[in-house]
Amino acid sequence: MEKVKKVTKIGVLTSGGDAPGMNAAIRAVVRTGLYHGLEVYGIMRGYAGTIDDDIHKMDSRSVANIIQRGGTILKTARCKEFYEPEGRKKAYDNLRKKGINGLVVIGGDGSFRGAQIFSNEFDIPCIGIPGTIDKDIAGTDFTIGFDTAANTAVNAIDKIRDTADAHDRLFIIEVMGRDAGFIALHSGIATGAENILIPERKTDMEELVHGLEEKEKRKKLVNLVVVAEGDDFGGADEVAKLMRSRLPTADIRVAILGHIQRGGAPSCLDRLIASRMGYSSVECLIEGRHNVMVGIMNNRMHFTPLDKAVKAKQKISDEWMKIVKILAS
Ligand code: ADP
Repeated sequence: MEKVKKVTKIGVLTSGGDAPGMNAAIRAVVRTGLYHGLEVYGIMRGYAGTIDDDIHKMDSRSVANIIQRGGTILKTARCKEFYEPEGRKKAYDNLRKKGINGLVVIGGDGSFRGAQIFSNEFDIPCIGIPGTIDKDIAGTDFTIGFDTAANTAVNAIDKIRDTADAHDRLFIIEVMGRDAGFIALHSGIATGAENILIPERKTDMEELVHGLEEKEKRKKLVNLVVVAEGDDFGGADEVAKLMRSRLPTADIRVAILGHIQRGGAPSCLDRLIASRMGYSSVECLIEGRHNVMVGIMNNRMHFTPLDKAVKAKQKISDEWMKIVKILAS
């Protein structure tokens, strides 16, 4: 049986797109590591910090007062050099210099791909924690940041509803989600949107327009359409253009929520899953697991090989869309 190398010093980094709750995960990794007597190092700006040797020893106080903060105290970055073997060799040399023999990578599927390649080249086991507001990674029911982003969208859309109601306007609201429509789907249902346009489903424009015409006839006042930025038509502006040509009398406005969805204090759920995943990632390293992503499925920790923890276009069932239609009638 292969002898498991004992992990004694671990590094933690956040990479790729930021997501609220990453700080809670960093805190959990640091404190669980210290609890087990490991040395823990924080690596700045994702893989860039491994290459530039921007690596700092953390203690329990280094992660004090961050559980409630959005963003990431370790900063995040996209790092071109890490795509190259020479860049990864530099990263390895810097980690070895510090004696780091285990790595926790908090990020999206791109960051996991980097971790997988790195770990195959060098003898440093890597554990991934899914941090992305899009919730589109295979092997987990939750990703850190999604719940906060969806709640931010809900709060903003509620405000838009007030003004839409006051003026009898139709608002086309764009939320984040280039490849995945979960923020649109969840926030749209939670705000009573008339329709929800997502990349996973083809939108029938005729049906959409027809539905709105019907509502207009019945004098249904508030109309909100929530659009994921990656829907078939190319976002809210494009949808509005099409709608204006089809519904010339309607007062149509566009609101693009943008980056506010990435910021702010993480929700209770995001803090909780980040804490569980951070804790579990260190346990994994101690148990000698390597190259897996820590996820949660059916409320249990679930481990997926990093090469299978990819962006997953999930099927959104007809039932979801039926709920949208029935409840907005
Ligand atoms: P995310 O993790 O949010 O999906 P990216 O796809 O931008 O974000 O990946 C983050 C970083 O991970 C990249 O900037 C790069 O440093 C590293 N990375 C991604 N893919 C690879 C790869 N195929 N090889 C090496 N490094 C990679």
